[in-house]
Amino acid sequence: MNKKFTYKNESFKCQHCGALNEPAKRYIRDHCSDCLHSLHLDVHPGDRASDCGGLMKPIAFKVGGKTDYKILYKCQKCSYKHWNMMLLDDNMQVMEKLNPYYEA
Ligand SMILES: [Zn+2]
Ligand SMILES: [Zn+2]
Repeated sequence: MNKKFTYKNESFKCQHCGALNEPAKRYIRDHCSDCLHSLHLDVHPGDRASDCGGLMKPIAFKVGGKTDYKILYKCQKCSYKHWNMMLLDDNMQVMEKLNPYYEA
């Protein structure tokens, strides 16, 4: 990865459901483990370079690799879309209600 790629792994309070999220152990915690919502803060994961700040809503998921799930997010403010890695302690019941994503 390039030099601009820095992690900010910190606890935060979810702006959607209010759950307090602890920092992730394996990867950067940038979305709520309860409702899976995120905020549009990053251009690259963890860099906090975006000044949008809109609520990122999970809209679809796909399996990437053997065990990794990825979630597709859409910003409710600027419609920016991006893929995010699912974490081990994420709420699977919420994820299973999302639409599977099929590549064209
Ligand atoms: Zn939440
Ligand atoms: Zn946005």
